[in-house]
Amino acid sequence: MISRRETILGGALTLLTCTCDCHANVSSVRALGCHVPKLEAPRYFSRTQTATLLQTGSEVIEARSGNPELDRALAQTLGRLSQLFDVLPAFAYYQDGSQPNALATPEPRLQRADGTVLFGLNMLQQLLTRPEHPDASVVAVCAHEFGHIVSYKTGLIDRLMQDNNPFRAEQFADYMAGYYAGFKKLERNDFPAVAFATTQRSFGGVTRGTHGTSEERGSAVIEGFKSIYERKLSAPDAIDAAFQFSMSRQ
Ligand SMILES: [Zn+2]
Repeated sequence: MISRRETILGGALTLLTCTCDCHANVSSVRALGCHVPKLEAPRYFSRTQTATLLQTGSEVIEARSGNPELDRALAQTLGRLSQLFDVLPAFAYYQDGSQPNALATPEPRLQRADGTVLFGLNMLQQLLTRPEHPDASVVAVCAHEFGHIVSYKTGLIDRLMQDNNPFRAEQFADYMAGYYAGFKKLERNDFPAVAFATTQRSFGGVTRGTHGTSEERGSAVIEGFKSIYERKLSAPDAIDAAFQFSMSRQ
């Protein structure tokens, strides 16, 4: 049974993801996009408390939203992301200080994990105070970070980052976030895709930065969305398509 909250969390497509300052400094550590190299991960881990492996959706994540129903629904949704993408990341909130952010690293915070998704507590609060689709915006950020975890598990990250420029890795993560959006749209026909597209563009930059312009980010998400909604690609085939799409980006 899918709860109403979980339906909401998965329903609204606010697939912007990574609204962050892409070159966030935490304790003078520089992340590339929202990708944190393994060697730098411990410095972020020192800012975490509880980490959770998200496998079934029934796990209990650190209660930080101020809404127990939302916390449970988020855990369910993250479990679905894990299953759809066939990844097993650890999930932890971290103290992001004055630079709200969400990050992913191939370094496992817990044994057996394929990497770790780090969600800033100030980022969480900022998203939850958004006037439209606050719940979905949280999930959207998570879907993007789970996209990075896919690139770690498959080893594609090495080629996506071969020039040490995070742009293609970010395009890959946006594509996979779009894939999740398409998955939800097929599951629920009244999925508000227009709302997500509008919100996505509102978060993009004028200049490319690390994540791409709003147009580039929107294109990646829409391509990912179409890959399942129109082309009916399986998740493994969509991962291949996401890689080809991202590597073709100049
Ligand atoms: Zn990212």
